[in-house]
Parts: sequence; structure tokens; C-alpha cells
Amino acid sequence: MDFRETEDHSALRKAVGDIADQFGSDYYVAHAESRTPTTDLWKRLGELGYLGINLPEEYGGGGAGMTELTIVCEETAAHGNPLLLLLVSAAISGEVITEFGSDAQRSRWLPSLADGSSKVVFAITEPDAGSNSHRISTTAVKDGDGYLISGQKYYISGVDEADAILVVTKTGTDSAGRAKMSLFVVDADAPGLTRQHLPVSVTLPEKQFTLYFDNVRVGNDRLIGTEGDGFKQIFQGLNPERITGAAICVGIGRFALERAAAYANNRTVWGASIGTHQGVSHALAKSKIEIELAALMTMKAAWLHDQGEPAGDASNMAKYAAAEAAIGAIDAAIQVHGGNGLSTEMGLLPYWGLARLLRIAPVSREMILNHVAQHSLGLPRSY
Ligand SMILES: Cc1cc2nc3c(=O)[nH]c(=O)nc-3n(C[C@H](O)[C@H](O)[C@H](O)COP(=O)(O)OP(=O)(O)OC[C@H]3O[C@@H](n4cnc5c(N)ncnc54)[C@H](O)[C@@H]3O)c2cc1C
Repeated sequence: MDFRETEDHSALRKAVGDIADQFGSDYYVAHAESRTPTTDLWKRLGELGYLGINLPEEYGGGGAGMTELTIVCEETAAHGNPLLLLLVSAAISGEVITEFGSDAQRSRWLPSLADGSSKVVFAITEPDAGSNSHRISTTAVKDGDGYLISGQKYYISGVDEADAILVVTKTGTDSAGRAKMSLFVVDADAPGLTRQHLPVSVTLPEKQFTLYFDNVRVGNDRLIGTEGDGFKQIFQGLNPERITGAAICVGIGRFALERAAAYANNRTVWGASIGTHQGVSHALAKSKIEIELAALMTMKAAWLHDQGEPAGDASNMAKYAAAEAAIGAIDAAIQVHGGNGLSTEMGLLPYWGLARLLRIAPVSREMILNHVAQHSLGLPRSY
């Protein structure tokens, strides 16, 4: 076993971190507070080949894997510029279209995902199904040489920035009454598709939307993979989504601890720097340990995915550990800053909001614990 990072990976970390530094954390915070997309950073990373690093070279990607995309997610976040849409556009949509799309579909979507000129966001969540995706009710019904999609999705991120949406639909029911799923790429401006902004109180550059599909017509060429096989297919994307979500959390944790340590060293209140007090330093040390452990599990999950090995357990554990560690780290950083921790000038709260969101999405802490209890420990299914 060799835990040393390769020179290529270290160089990738440095290159991506340098770009994020050129924009700076103030850039992210300003966009989070004004709720406007961090488009310039996205474009820059796309032009330099980092957004499509996991996509095949023949479609304009970097020909690398989840390990490298994980590094991109972690480093942008660690340098103050977490990119939520990497989870959906690069990780889920990119991986699913690569794995299950036809040559024509790959040629149509992957090059523009890779160079950052377009995004394909992801829509699975529905108001009445919640975490139980088997109960989705957005249906796709065969009609002539295509399908008609009807139903509702909500909390869908980045629709305003996207050219298309990878939509999870129901095209039938199995013997247990669960949805047979099928995946379609639907144009964001397709006739019959309307969207409504769904405001959230965490400050994010990315907006969320409720989507209403009213007999939205898609051609057969928009079906990804095999009709009815969607559940199996999205798993190809859900593990990457969890891994990249974990990577963003690791990055937020590193960012928070760097800020906190600098402040704890410089701030003097009782004649010595506040970092002298164990009440301050131990909180940061504990977070450092938790972030390092989460980073290890995140890299293990990415490696397993890249090897084609089962990565579900590791991806879930990484996402759980990283979200919890990130929330702990950013909370500790806010506390170390005292009143300044809540100041707009310090700009820490937007990172707390994103870390807090990542405890809930893309899969909640509780659903991960259900998975681990059942699949890793052999306990009865509880729900
Ligand atoms: C800002 C934001 C962005 C998002 N972006 C997207 C996106 O781009 N695309 C998309 O498809 N979705 C997106 N989501 C949705 C997100 O993935 C869901 O909110 C998340 O999966 C949880 O589902 P839910 O909200 O329906 O919660 P529910 O399923 O209603 O659960 C509510 C609570 O009950 C718990 N719970 C539910 N079932 C069980 C159980 N069996 N055992 C124990 N606890 C349980 C949950 O853990 C949770 O804490 C986003 C959400 C937010 C807030």
C-alpha cells in the first residue's frame, strides 16, 4: 500500500488551487450573497480542461477518473470556491451519459460539459417521494417516436444555468409496486417545462427550482440507456455525486481550518494569542483529525469507483464523514473568530450553509446510516 500522492495529482491540486486563488474567497462569498452563479470561474476551469477531467478524451474530456475530479472539487473548495454544480453536471450527468449514452448522445453533450460551455443538471427529487425514489411519480409515456413527460420535481439546482436536465422518470411499475425508472435528457427550455424559483435561506451562488413537466415531448434520442433500467443506471452517477460532495466538504473543512488557525495565531485578547488556549486549539485539532479521516475515505471511494469495484459503501461513508467533519470545522472556525465569525467581512457563513446543505443532499445523513446499518452491518432494513 502506498499513501503517497503521485506527482501528477499534486500538480493537479496546485494548478486548480492556484486558479481558485486567483478568484479568491471574496469572489465566492459575493456571488453566494448576491445568489449569482460563479460563471467566470466555471468557464476558466472548463477552458483549462478541469471540469471534464473525468470524461473520455475522445469527447473532449481529460480521460482521467473520479480521483482527479475529486481533487478538482476538493481544491476549488479548499481555496474558498466550492462548486456545487460539479456534483450534478460533471459527476452525475457526465458519468451517466459516458457510461450509458449512445455515441451520438456522448458527442452531443460531453464536449460542452468538458469545456464548461454548458451544464446538464440533475432532477430526481419530488415533493411526494422524498428520499424514497422508488415512489417518484413523474412519468414518461411512449408516444409515437418519443415520450411525453409529466410531473413535478423540486429543489433542482442550477436549472437557470443549464442547457439541459437529466430527468429521472417512471416508465412502469415492478411487481413490488416500485417505479421502473428511465432517464431522459430534457432541454431546459423545452415546451411544456416551466420552472419556479424555490428560495432557500442558505446563501449559495446556485439557485434551486421547482420544475413542472406538462406533457413535455422528448424524442427517443433523449432516452439514456435502456428504458426501465434507470435505477441501476443512476447508481453509476450517485456514487460520484456522493464522492464529489464529500470532496467539497473536505475542501470546506480545510479552508475553514486554515482561516481559523491563522486567526487563532494572530488574535490576542489576554496578552497571548487565543490559539494558546486549549479550548480553542483542541476544537481545531479535533476538526483537523476528522477532515483528514474523511479525506482518506473520500479518496478510497474515488479509487474504488475508478477500479470498477463496488463503491457504494465507501461513497456513502465518505459523504457522511466529510459532511459531519465540514460542519464541525466551519462551526469551530466561526467560534474561533468570536463575534467576527458572524461578520459579513469574514465571509464564513456561506461555507457553513453549504456544508449544512451537504448533510441533507444529495443523500441525507439518516439515509446513509440506514444504508450502513443494513448493508455493512447486516441489520434489518428499517424502513
Ligand atoms: C439546496 C438544495 C439543493 C438540492 N439540489 C438538488 C438537485 O440538484 N437535484 C435533485 O434531484 N435534488 C436536489 N435536492 C434535494 C435533496 O437531494 C433532498 O432534499 C434530499 O435528498 C432529502 O430528501 P427530502 O428533502 O425529500 O427529505 P425527506 O425524504 O422528506 O426526509 C426528511 C427527513 O427525514 C429523514 N428520513 C426520511 N426517510 C427516513 C428513513 N427511512 N429513516 C430515517 N430518516 C429518514 C431524512 O433523512 C430527512 O432528515 C436539493 C436540496 C437542497 C436543499
